[in-house]
Amino acid sequence: MESAQTNWWDRFGEITARARQERPLLLLLTLLATLALVAGMQWPGVLAGWLLLLLVVVARKPIPAPEAERQIVVEDEPVFDPMPQVAATLAALDMPAFILGQDAIVLFQNKAAERALGALPTGSHLSARLRSPGILDMVRETIATDEPNQIEHSERLPSERVYTLRIAPIDFGRRIGRQPDQAPQKLYLLSFKDISELRRIDRMRSDFVANASHELRTPLASLRGFIETLQGPARSDPAAQERFLAIMFDQATRMSRLVDDLMSLSRLELKSHIAPDQTVDLKPLIGHVRDALLPLAEDLGVEIRTHLPEGKVEVLGDRDELVQVFENLIENACKYGQEGEVVDVYVRNDSAEPVEVSVVDRGPGIPAEHVPRLTERFYRVSVADSRSKKGTGLGLAIVKHILTRHRARLIVKSEVGKGSEFTVRF
Ligand code: ADP
Repeated sequence: MESAQTNWWDRFGEITARARQERPLLLLLTLLATLALVAGMQWPGVLAGWLLLLLVVVARKPIPAPEAERQIVVEDEPVFDPMPQVAATLAALDMPAFILGQDAIVLFQNKAAERALGALPTGSHLSARLRSPGILDMVRETIATDEPNQIEHSERLPSERVYTLRIAPIDFGRRIGRQPDQAPQKLYLLSFKDISELRRIDRMRSDFVANASHELRTPLASLRGFIETLQGPARSDPAAQERFLAIMFDQATRMSRLVDDLMSLSRLELKSHIAPDQTVDLKPLIGHVRDALLPLAEDLGVEIRTHLPEGKVEVLGDRDELVQVFENLIENACKYGQEGEVVDVYVRNDSAEPVEVSVVDRGPGIPAEHVPRLTERFYRVSVADSRSKKGTGLGLAIVKHILTRHRARLIVKSEVGKGSEFTVRF
């Protein structure tokens, strides 16, 4: 009932609008009717004719409104305020974002922006929070030209971060404004993409290349030096030749160890996202690693003791990679913990706890500040000590990569003067 009433009301509105639009024609009709009356025609005939012509006019297609009148119709449209929807969308975004009006006034700031840069009252100028002339120039240019712009910017507080800032006009495809009589408003989206992690990875990559080249360059330079000596001053000195060739052999072996470790790392990186799916019993595996390291342990005067539980100790893994993990850990314990003379390997398989393997030495231990960095590539507590023990500085980095692929963790506990404990928890 109510909708029928609304229809009639709408229809009446349409007819009056049409009548207003057809004002000149209606005036002409009324003039003709008056002339007909003056000329002596009967009024019922004149009225019938007037109504008939009126019907013809109303039934005709509406004439498009002239340009000026159309603009007025647009101004009569309900005011379009996109802020609630835009704010709701940006609130769900996890990257810092601002909506700016003309004159760089902040109309909205999402939670991520509040966390990264601190809260800014709505209606403040952007410069109240971001004072960098580069950013303000960029914002000014976009507001003036309506072209998107971007810039790189770093923040020191609350923590050191690098961002790519981008500003772009938002095109809603229609006029926006809070009041019909206000000038159309323009909105701009200022977003912050955090590239700190990318930068860190970039730096790590270039450090890695620099370190790898340095590690290879040292033995290469020494090889070249000995070759020159052998070609020149030591040409006819068999004793020197024998000594130099032994050193050259050591250097070449060091280079090939380094290349092998680098290849291992890059192979592991390629499959880091694929979890291994073989079932591996750790008891025979640890026994195999101990046997393989016996000659080295004997050379160093170290005893490797294994402490194994009853029954199998099975984990999901890649056998060869797990051999590499325990070889690295037990070899390190023998090399660096040598003074303690005993290296204990504990395999734990309590049903309520995760499977664990701990390698414990009673060597000099590792100062606390080095512990968090031990698994970085080429990180060594003492480079000279590592080199003298034929280390490459990549062993624990390889261990960490393998364990990540196995969804396992490496836990390092060490006390200076007492020794170190490297635990793998599956
Ligand atoms: P490297 O080839 O030098 O042995 P790793 O990555 O295996 O490289 O180890 C990194 C560094 O960690 C070693 O150079 C050494 O300084 C320290 N480290 C590792 N294991 C031990 C340990 N059991 N006791 C003392 N220091 C250790």
